Amino acid sequence: PDGPDLEALQHADVARLLPVPGAESDKYRRGVVGIAAGSARYPGAAVLAVAGALRGGAGAVRYVGPAGDAVLARFPETLVSDKGPKQAGRVQAWVVGPGAGDDAPVVAEVLAADVPVLVDADGLRLAGRDAVRGRTAPTLMTPHAGEAAALLGVSREEVERARLVSVRELAGRYGATVLLKGSTTLVADSGGGAVRVNSTGTSWLATAGSGDVLSGLAGSLLAAGLPALDAGSVAAYLHGLAGRYAADGAPMGAHDLAETIPEAWRDVR
Ligand code: AMP
Ligand code: MG
Repeated sequence: PDGPDLEALQHADVARLLPVPGAESDKYRRGVVGIAAGSARYPGAAVLAVAGALRGGAGAVRYVGPAGDAVLARFPETLVSDKGPKQAGRVQAWVVGPGAGDDAPVVAEVLAADVPVLVDADGLRLAGRDAVRGRTAPTLMTPHAGEAAALLGVSREEVERARLVSVRELAGRYGATVLLKGSTTLVADSGGGAVRVNSTGTSWLATAGSGDVLSGLAGSLLAAGLPALDAGSVAAYLHGLAGRYAADGAPMGAHDLAETIPEAWRDVR
């Protein structure tokens, strides 16, 4: 549905935006994505965010948080730090929030970093509006309708009824790029302009952990240097396709979806 308000991201646009390593690339030039996620209660959110990030085009994934052992057991290539975000070493973009519980100090520390930050899930509740507004580097927020409703102080039904208005309103209030998840995904910049709409997904994506994979994937694209609007919309596009491939008309788990991201990538490229 192209129009002045909505812009459907096309296959060719996504192909052009995919980060491909040049002959002179090294892992740092490709970008390091930092994942500050997971908790003793929800270690799996960290594993799934890392799973998404590893397939997103960054050169390395760094993890900080209490789920380092679970992450390493599944993904030995992860750079696990036993220090907080500030001391973790070089990071070109952060993802904060999935399964994070109530760790407000980590969210504040990540928001204070002068690199792009993706805020999801628990992080959305813990990120103060002033802390987000005060950032100079880009911020990408990725709420589903319930999380968007809580931030706007309205009911979930109200967000569902007015998704375009809601995503724009949130982007304006926070001075951030906002990706509103759902059966279609909308991505809005704070400065106005057309809102990107993605509809590559499938209702099989309505499964626990699906959003955690998206956050890592989009964070990786931010670390690779894509502007927030592009990182969000390209991630939504690939995530939707990967969901279709993973499900193929039958139920799937979020970890299945992480594994079909490369198939989606090859298809688009
Ligand atoms: P979360 O609620 O954070 O786990 O995120 C769920 C993910 O699945 C988001 O990327 C949604 O856009 C996607 N999703 C959820 N339900 C649907 C649906 N009915 N159709 C397509 N995508 C969906
Ligand atoms: Mg979620």
